[in-house]
Parts: sequence; structure tokens; C-alpha cells
Amino acid sequence: MSPLIEPPPENHADNAKGRWEATFARLGIRESFLFGFGVMCTLLLLVVAAALFTTARIGQSASNILDEQLPVTLEILRATRAVDAFAATGAALVSATTEDDRRTAFERADSAQAALEQTLNDLASADATAEAAEIHLLSEELTDNLLRLRDVVDERIALVLAKDAARTRLVANLQAFQQQLTYRIRIMESDSDIIGLLMAQPVPPTDRVAAMAQNTAPLIPLARFYAEVESIGGRLLAAAQDPNLPALHLSEQVLAIAIAGASSTFARLPEEERDALQSIFKELQALTTAADGPLGLREQELTLYAESQVLNLESQQITSRVDGTTADLVQRRLDDIRQAGVSATESRQRYIWLLTLVSAFSLLGMMAFMRLHVMRHLVARLSLLSKTLQNIAAGRFDIPLPEAGSDELGRLGAAVQQFHTTAIEAGRRECELQASNRSAEKARRELEIKAHELESLNSKLADLSTQDFLTGLANRRRFDEALGVEWARGTRTGQLLALIMIDVDHFKPFNDRYGHQAGDDCLRQVATMMKSVFGRVSDLASRYGGEEFCVIVTDSTETGIYGMAERVRTAVEKLTVEHADSPYGVVTVSIGVAAVIPCGGKTPEDLLRAADAALYSAKANGRNRVMQSQPIG
Ligand code: GH3
Ligand code: MG
Ligand code: MG
Repeated sequence: MSPLIEPPPENHADNAKGRWEATFARLGIRESFLFGFGVMCTLLLLVVAAALFTTARIGQSASNILDEQLPVTLEILRATRAVDAFAATGAALVSATTEDDRRTAFERADSAQAALEQTLNDLASADATAEAAEIHLLSEELTDNLLRLRDVVDERIALVLAKDAARTRLVANLQAFQQQLTYRIRIMESDSDIIGLLMAQPVPPTDRVAAMAQNTAPLIPLARFYAEVESIGGRLLAAAQDPNLPALHLSEQVLAIAIAGASSTFARLPEEERDALQSIFKELQALTTAADGPLGLREQELTLYAESQVLNLESQQITSRVDGTTADLVQRRLDDIRQAGVSATESRQRYIWLLTLVSAFSLLGMMAFMRLHVMRHLVARLSLLSKTLQNIAAGRFDIPLPEAGSDELGRLGAAVQQFHTTAIEAGRRECELQASNRSAEKARRELEIKAHELESLNSKLADLSTQDFLTGLANRRRFDEALGVEWARGTRTGQLLALIMIDVDHFKPFNDRYGHQAGDDCLRQVATMMKSVFGRVSDLASRYGGEEFCVIVTDSTETGIYGMAERVRTAVEKLTVEHADSPYGVVTVSIGVAAVIPCGGKTPEDLLRAADAALYSAKANGRNRVMQSQPIG
């Protein structure tokens, strides 16, 4: 078991190793915790401020990304879409074949160009001048291309109009042929019909048939020529719609052959017919081969269509370059955004490390402070105070006491010193009090013994006041009280109450012969015998006076009472106390018995008188006998 008393702690203020330690040592509990709390709050505020600063920096980075980079990126994508939309108008231009198509396609192109210019302006004003210039350069190329495409479209539509005019001319030419040839062919057909009818006669008119055949034969190539012209016209109209140049060139070759065939047939026509058809046949030949004919115009149109397709293809290529350029621009912006995110993450990690280091060093500082100051100074002093109090409480006063001072522990030390003084004084007073208590206890025990003795004496005195001193039986006073009580109880309960009155026979001569001392002994023997006979609680045997005894009997019958009286008489006789002056030779007793149920009309004196009368009767009848009284009342 370690001793409670320990050597006093070092006085750190006196043995201070440094100014700070001395300063801390002087700090009380309240100042210490206020200082610690202040330092912790300051550190907490620093950490919170640093966290807020970090959050603001990171938020600023994110804001930069959102406010600067993303809008520019979106503007670049918008410009890309505008370029695509502008280039897409080329397809409408390529496919325009009518004036309405042209107008619609040109309006769409104008609108798309305006939208593109607006987008490029927005991009330039969104702090992306370089990107705007780069896209603008490509869009100018696209604009030039689409302008050339417009020229081609205008030229092609003009060709379409010319082609319609050429077609109209061709149709008119074919109608002219139809007018000229149909008339002649009908003449030829009617002549042929007539020749047929003539040849069908039983005897054909040979001369007439020969003459008509002479006239009709030159017209036979005319039908062939008509068919060839119809064929050339149909082919020419069909070739004007050929979808591409190879088909058109094939049609040209076919038509050249057809024209050559028709020219051959034309040469075989009669001169008159040739003269009539010469001009319109030349017109047909010209429409077939001339540059402003349907074929020539169709060829130019197809050439322009191919050229416009090439231009449109170039537009698509420009668009692809724009797409590639803008993809690079967007990628550069995205790289910037990613770089900004990476730098924000790195700075956040740097700040987190910084905060962690600051927090760790702060906590270490606080722990060092607690260890240095609280554990070394405050806890040591508290431990001394605690052990000093334990020693004082254990009754050890020869101990070193803590210092008194102005701080909390110093005041507590002063209180412990005061407590030490008070405890010594209290110990001294307690010794005195214990001595005083011991005296008081002794006196109290003596008093208790005396009180017990007094109580015993009182008890004896009380017994003596109700007891006969010679026989130990109840005395006359007790008998009178008991008779009154039992009479009252018998009145309430209706139980039988009896008196047995006993008188020693010839006792005077006994005294005279044997002396009073022997008389007293005789009386004590009779009394002792009576106690054995009347042992019940309900029976009270008493010395009524002189050599007379009277017994109160309750809770019994008349026969039982008589039996008890008889047992007394017999027992006295059997004592065989010599009595020379008695006719029986021994001491005997005469007994009178009276019993009654107490009631309002009778008194205890009536019962006494009845018992006395019965006793008198026993005396009168020779003594040494029991006599019962007459009924009372
Ligand atoms: P009887 O048979 O008629 O009763 O005759 P007796 O002699 O007994 O009657 P008596 O009343 O004449 O005598 C009573 C005597 O009892 C008188 C007295 O000497 C005696 N006596 C009374 N008290 C005491 C007592 O305390 N001690 C003694 N030794 N004798 C007593
Ligand atoms: Mg008597
Ligand atoms: Mg007598």
C-alpha cells in the first residue's frame, strides 16, 4: 500500500526553465482554460478561413471555366452549325431548275449567310477573335464557292428557258411537217385505195391503173420520210431529257444516223416535194445539230449541272475543313477547361494538405500545452491537494501542506491549510467529547441499574401491598378488590361466583399450648396446601384475617366448589399437625361454602354473609367439616 504522504512537488515557478513555462505555471485553472479555449478558437477560425479561401479559389476556377471557356466553346459550335447550314443551301441551289426554286434557294442562302456572319460577330465579341478569324477565312471561301454556284444556277436556268424555246421551235417544226406531209400522204393513200378498187374489178382498167400508179409511185418515199421525221422528232424530244452526258451523246449518234437516213429518203422525194419541204427539213437538221438546239442546250445544262455538283462538293469539302478546324478549336478549349480543372484539383489538394498540416500542428501544440501546463502544473497541485485532504481525513496531520496563493488552486491550498488547522482542533475536541461521552455512558448505565433496582423495589412494594406477609397469599385488601371485580364480571356474564371460607379450629388453644411461633408455622402450612389446591388462575386464595382464609372461585359448578373445599379440609387433616386440645388430636379446619350468580338485586356482602353463615354452621356442627350455605336471596 503506497503511503498517502508524499514529498511536496517542485515549485515550478521558482525552478522555471524558461520564461514561457514560468508564465504558464502562474496561470490559474480559469486562465488556463480561457487561454486554451482562445488558442483553439483562433486556430479554428484560421482553419475555417483557410477552408473558405480554398473553396472560394476553387469556386473561382470553376466560375472561370463556366463563364469564359464554355460560352466560347458553345459559340464555336454554333458557328460550326451556321457554316454547315450555309453549305447545305448549296444542295438546294444545285437542284433548282425553275425560277421559283432559284428564288427560294437564293433566299435560304442569303439567310444562312446572314446567320453565319452574325455568329462570327458573336464569336469575335466573345473574346475568341482568333477562332472567329479562322472560321471567317474558311467561310469566305465557302461564300465565293456558293456565289459561283449561284452564277451556274442562273446560267442553267437560262439554259432551261432556252431549251424550252428550242423545244417549242421543234414542236412547231414537227407540226409544219405534219401539215405538209399529211396532205400528200392522204392523196397517195386515196390513189392507192382507188387502184385497189380498180384492180378488184373483174376486168381491171389497166391503163387507168398504170396511169395512177405512175402518179402515185414517186410519192411512196414520202410516207417513209414522214415516219423518219416523226421518229427524229420523238427522239429529239426524248434526248432533251437525257439524265447524263453519255446518254445524250448516244442520242446524238442515233439522231445523226436518223438524220442521215432521213436525208437519203429526202433525196429520193420528187423535186416538187423536196422544194416544199426543204426549209423545214433544214430547220429540223439545225435543231438536231445546232448548239442552241435541244441537244446542244441539254448538253450545256448537263455540263453546268456537273459543274454545280462539283461546286457543291467543294462546299462540302470546305465544310469538312471548317468542321475539322472547329473541332481543333473546341478541343483546344476543352484542353484549357481540363487544364483548369486539373490545376483547380491540384490547388485544392495543396490547400487540403496545408489545412491538414495546420490542424495537426495546432492539435500537437494544444496537446503539448496540455501536457506541459495542465498535467505538469495543475494536475500535480491537484494531486497534492487530494492526498493532503485524504491524509487529513485519515487523521494524519503531520504532513506537508500545499501552498497558498491567489489563483484557484492557491486559494484551495489556503482552504486546505485552514481545514488542516480546523481538523486538528476538531480532533482535540473530539477526544474531549469522547471522554465526556464515556463518562456520560457510565453514568447512564449506573442510572439504568438504579432505575432497574427501583422498579424491582416498586414491584415488590406493590406485591407487598396486596400480599399477606405471613402466608404469601393475597391479603384482605386484594381480596376485597378481586371480589368487586369478579362480582361485576359475573353480573355481565351470568357465571357462577363462589366463596370458600376456611377457619382453623380451636386455634386459640393451639397458640396457648404450642406458642405463637408454632401457630404462625401452622398457618403457613395451611396456606401452602391451599396454593396447591387452588392453582387455577381463576381462583384467588387469600388470608381473610387471623386464622381465617377465603377463596374466590369462578368458572366452576357448585359440585366442583364443594369438592375443592372438601379436598382442603382433608388435606389439612392429613397434615397431622398435633393439636392436643382438639377432639381430633390434629389441626383441622371448618369450611363454609356459598355460591351465587351475581345480579342487580344482590351484593358481594350477601355472598360473604352466606359463606360466613355456612362456616358458622360447620363450627356448630362439630367442626372439621364443609357446609354449604342456604340459597342466597
Ligand atoms: P373456634 O374453634 O371456635 O374457632 O375456636 P378458636 O379458638 O379458634 O376461636 P377464637 O376466635 O376464639 O380464637 C382465635 C385465635 O386465633 C385468637 C388468636 O390467639 C389466634 N390468632 C389470631 N391471629 C393469629 C396469628 O396471627 N398468629 C397466631 N399464632 N395466632 C393467631
Ligand atoms: Mg376465628
Ligand atoms: Mg378458629
